[in-house]
Amino acid sequence: METLEGLATILFFLYFLPTLIAISRWYGIGRVFALNLFLGWTLVGWVVALTLALTPKAKTTVQIVQNTSQPAVITEDRRPCPSCAERILAQAKVCHFCKEPTGFAQ
Ligand SMILES: [Zn+2]
Repeated sequence: METLEGLATILFFLYFLPTLIAISRWYGIGRVFALNLFLGWTLVGWVVALTLALTPKAKTTVQIVQNTSQPAVITEDRRPCPSCAERILAQAKVCHFCKEPTGFAQ
């Protein structure tokens, strides 16, 4: 009786080998299990399930696009305002803060 149970256990694991492989790889578990369960009894279904379980994982490619034509941080030329000393754009004709003419040359 013990040998019969042992044999049943071995056959059970052998039958669900594709599913066990899929679980161990954590890939395509659902489809492998469905195929294994419903068509595993046909040898072709079992082989297909095994093939699916051993299929390499689909790689997700992440493409990092780097725009090298423009710098990531735009550095603006700033200088202190002659009236209020706040840092303003060097091209400013009127101070953004005190509204006084800067007198910066263009
Ligand atoms: Zn100012």
